[in-house]
Amino acid sequence: MAESKRDYYEVLGVSKTASDDELKKAYRKLAKKYHPDANPDNKAEAEKKFKELNEAYEVLSDSQKRKMYDQFGHSGPNGYSSDFSGFSGFDGFSGFSGFNGAGGFDVDLGDIFSSFFGGSSRSSSRRNGPQRGNDVRVQVDISFKEAAFGVRKQVKIQRKEQCTTCNGSGAMPGTSPETCKACNGSGRITTVRNTILGAMQSTRPCDNCAGSGKVISNPCVDCKGTGFVRKTRTVTFNIPAGIDNGMVIPIKGEGEPGLRGGPAGDLYIQVSVAQDPVFSRKGDHLYENVHISFSKATLGGVVQVPTLEGFEEYNIPAGTQSGTIFTLRNKGIKNVNGKGVGNLNFTAVVDIPKKLTNEQRELIERLAQISGEPVNTGKKKGFFEF
Ligand SMILES: [Zn+2]
Ligand SMILES: [Zn+2]
Repeated sequence: MAESKRDYYEVLGVSKTASDDELKKAYRKLAKKYHPDANPDNKAEAEKKFKELNEAYEVLSDSQKRKMYDQFGHSGPNGYSSDFSGFSGFDGFSGFSGFNGAGGFDVDLGDIFSSFFGGSSRSSSRRNGPQRGNDVRVQVDISFKEAAFGVRKQVKIQRKEQCTTCNGSGAMPGTSPETCKACNGSGRITTVRNTILGAMQSTRPCDNCAGSGKVISNPCVDCKGTGFVRKTRTVTFNIPAGIDNGMVIPIKGEGEPGLRGGPAGDLYIQVSVAQDPVFSRKGDHLYENVHISFSKATLGGVVQVPTLEGFEEYNIPAGTQSGTIFTLRNKGIKNVNGKGVGNLNFTAVVDIPKKLTNEQRELIERLAQISGEPVNTGKKKGFFEF
């Protein structure tokens, strides 16, 4: 870690429970304040703040990224750096066009800027700029113990990839896209009209090339000129020990490729953890029931307590009541962020024998007699008969 990052909620000046609306409002306010163009005397500092703000908003405005940030913080689960990049690598600021990536912002930045800069339109120039690729989301099912100990898994994902036949150009091999003659490759058509107020200039995307600046006369047969094909890929990744149901693992750059040099999207793997027949889980703590015989509960003694690894002996005291909870410290689940290990809590369930041998019955009857209780000798009798 190079330097410590400020908490995203702090950056936006909102509480951890802020609604989407509150986030959006806070973001708009600060975006105006810190926009580099609004701080000509202090551009570098403003740009830094602006970048930090955009990064914070990019994460918190995306419910999935926000959930992940709440769980993992800036750097993601520990010991997971090989194919896990957490949030530390987000590149929020790359010029105005950079915000326009698919799956990026749901706030129209154009309207922030137009309210601030008095209506200058940047939308026409954005079309041509680099665009971030789409994120891909996929679910993976794992067992309870795989979640507890961590596991290496594979998922099959469907994603758009660059066409290998034309290397993404969209043109048949041997040919290449030509510069659009209508716009001379700019992707924009500018028209000038003479009015009584003077010459009025307006700009719109070029229809001939859909704003790309290039025209393909011989489209590649494999991708039909788009430069992309859909492929099924197998992605192998590590699930860290301690992951819980519903958590999401981000794998940076494994989404769909970007457009015009934009970065690839990310792959988000949502983990679904199966229930266990013995244990239930709350956070890093485990819970289970352990059955104890009537005599052991009464006299006390050693019970075998199932743990994740096998069994652990535990000495319960004499007179243990059904429903008593005992705790084995640090026998729960390893924290996914490396913050210790949870506890194993077991509830004693005292079994009252349902069937007795003659000898057992005599002993229990004897126990009842010396406790001064009336004894039912086994045959059904009326209430008044003894
Ligand atoms: Zn192709
Ligand atoms: Zn054109």
